Amino acid sequence: MVNDCYYDEFDKKENLHFDSKVVHGGLGCDPITGAVSFPIFQTATFRHREFGVSTGYDYTRLQNPTRQELERTMAILEGGTDAFAFSSGQAANMSLFGILNPGEHVILSDDIYGGTFRICEDIFKNVGCDFTWLDMADVDALEGAIRPSTRMIFVETPTNPMMKVADIRRISEVAKAHGLLLVVDNTFLTPYFQRPLELGADIVVHSGTKYLCGHNDVICGIVVTKEPSLSEHFRMQLKSRGNGLAPFDSWLVLRGLKTLSLRMQRHNENARIVADWLRKQPKVKKVYYAGFEDHVGYDISIGQTTGFGGMISFELDSEETAHQLLSGVKMILFAESLGGTETLITYPLTQTHESIPDDIRKKLGINERFIRISIGIEHVDDIIADLAQALA
Ligand SMILES: *Cc1c(COP(=O)(O)O)cnc(C)c1O
Repeated sequence: MVNDCYYDEFDKKENLHFDSKVVHGGLGCDPITGAVSFPIFQTATFRHREFGVSTGYDYTRLQNPTRQELERTMAILEGGTDAFAFSSGQAANMSLFGILNPGEHVILSDDIYGGTFRICEDIFKNVGCDFTWLDMADVDALEGAIRPSTRMIFVETPTNPMMKVADIRRISEVAKAHGLLLVVDNTFLTPYFQRPLELGADIVVHSGTKYLCGHNDVICGIVVTKEPSLSEHFRMQLKSRGNGLAPFDSWLVLRGLKTLSLRMQRHNENARIVADWLRKQPKVKKVYYAGFEDHVGYDISIGQTTGFGGMISFELDSEETAHQLLSGVKMILFAESLGGTETLITYPLTQTHESIPDDIRKKLGINERFIRISIGIEHVDDIIADLAQALA
């Protein structure tokens, strides 16, 4: 569909290191003008020069060069065949679950982003699909939950917000043995730290709103497929649901991606220091952080990731302390979301996990004392000083 010169350039990027791939993207430069910042093709439609002659572009809902540059870049970074950029992580997941036929069954991590839970339980359940929620650390339980109608396994690792770790390689063996699709939500670690397709997954989904964009200024979703046979479904979704990412937002995510490696390194370094500090605070009862050596999933993590990311959850001694912390932070922002340059502190009970039924939340440990923090790239001493003054 795209000009030959586009593909020549594309192929030259394959052998670069990851840190260079994020900078140079799919094409990097515009092949026609040489513009170093890939242009924002802010157009709805494309002119056909004459009958039967097309540039390969017809209408932005179907294809847009800026969105395609982001999609190529994400396919390269995740090691996939094709990528698709959606107007939100939710839109990406809606299109993903749209692959199901009525009566089909999916097994998912029991501790998962609240919006994904809502898509399953409030939308796809109504059209006859069925869902089982499981602790994916228990691979035997996973095998036991497979039914003749099972079509897909959906894993978040580490999970949101309890930081449970799932063994992608082992789960992919189970999926392959039963002919199931394995989908991994890679929002928390990004391909900088974890590449699920290389570990056996079939599809990776992202809320690109988070680390990929990284600046808390865009809502975006990404799907990356391993096999071309899976791509047609997503192309059809973009075309028919009309939920593709707009050109300007695509450009912002491309711009954010250029610093993905640098940002992820800093998020990772800062989070380790903050997690160690939190553990020593008398008002902090328990810290959930995948990088602790005594985390039950630590050995699995080091076998499948190269870092632990910037997310930490913790439980305080009382609801009052939780409210005091949320109201008392000064530099840190009390806000939903994660993965941006700014440190954000969140109250999952009433924010990200509000859609999860109370009994399930309680069982997981998401209670009124529970806090999630997305460690930003500020100076770590400022993050700690702010937490310290708010907890004092
Ligand atoms: C935020 C998030 C989503 C939803 O993405 P949006 O971009 O907010 O629509 C899905 N999964 C995870 C893990 C998330 O953190």
